[in-house]
Amino acid sequence: MTDAPGTYALLLRADEAGKIEVGALSVMPIRPGVYIYVGSAFGPGGLQARVGRHARGDGALHWHVDYLRAVTTLEGVWYTHDAKRRECTWAEVLRSRAEATVPVDGFGASDCTCPAHLVRPDSVPSVSAFRTRLHEQCPDHGPVERAGPNDLL
Ligand SMILES: [Zn+2]
Repeated sequence: MTDAPGTYALLLRADEAGKIEVGALSVMPIRPGVYIYVGSAFGPGGLQARVGRHARGDGALHWHVDYLRAVTTLEGVWYTHDAKRRECTWAEVLRSRAEATVPVDGFGASDCTCPAHLVRPDSVPSVSAFRTRLHEQCPDHGPVERAGPNDLL
């Protein structure tokens, strides 16, 4: 991962039930299991700066995902340096899995018309299955890589 721009997905695991406040949206109940959050980083510092911040879990609680990150463990990250903004496509592909649900409408999607950029899968899809689905949808999509939490600190 470099400081070039790109799109990423955070695989976040909650070990305990709880709840978080999600900005003005609502209170979101947290259930044990995995959440997948999709974002993009097209500003200064690119993917490395943004994902590194999520990996460390430091900084102010500003975005919806910061509140979720504060009560979960980062298990891994999928990312691409594809020059197009792919976050809405990624979120759509993840939502389209039969058993996937959207925990809170609008989570992470205040700048687009997606239902949400946060998905609750009943199990974590493999990165290779995810790549296949993406390439079916976008044949010109760039490579998707996986990083573990310790690669990012
Ligand atoms: Zn979107």
